[in-house]
Amino acid sequence: MFLNENKFCIECGTLLVKKEVKDEGLIGYCSHCDDFQFDPFNTAVSCIIINPHQDKILLVKQYGLDHYRFVAGYINKGENAQECLIREIKEELNQEVIRIVFNDTAFFNRTNTLMINFIVTLESEDVSEHNYEIDQADWFSFDEAKRFVKPNSLAELFLRKFLLERAEEYGR
Ligand SMILES: [Zn+2]
Repeated sequence: MFLNENKFCIECGTLLVKKEVKDEGLIGYCSHCDDFQFDPFNTAVSCIIINPHQDKILLVKQYGLDHYRFVAGYINKGENAQECLIREIKEELNQEVIRIVFNDTAFFNRTNTLMINFIVTLESEDVSEHNYEIDQADWFSFDEAKRFVKPNSLAELFLRKFLLERAEEYGR
């Protein structure tokens, strides 16, 4: 619960003290700025990428790792989640997005990151022009994707929810 908590004020460096905030519990408080500071964390988007025919899911291998995962990226300050995923998909796959549907969110403690997962339909199935950040990009049927995604990962969690609740909308 107190993972990655802020010890000092990010504005002025004063040591924060814990103060009770109604309905929120104990929150760091800076006596110099007379302000509360919630603990900082990262926010990222993760994408279940679907082909234009809406019957395949794209999984990628990255950073020399052997397991398949979803395309994901950290949200920049000032950017919204949709802008982030459109940018990431253009950068990493050189592809355009034609549909974005919210799927689920989860907090990933290891990297102190809130992951927001979307179902993203691409304009074209051609991902051959992926950039250096991606070692390999492969399309799978919905059932295959379930078998190939990294076990016990957030990707698997997001995929399971998608298959359970939304796969029928996508011409399965
Ligand atoms: Zn301060």
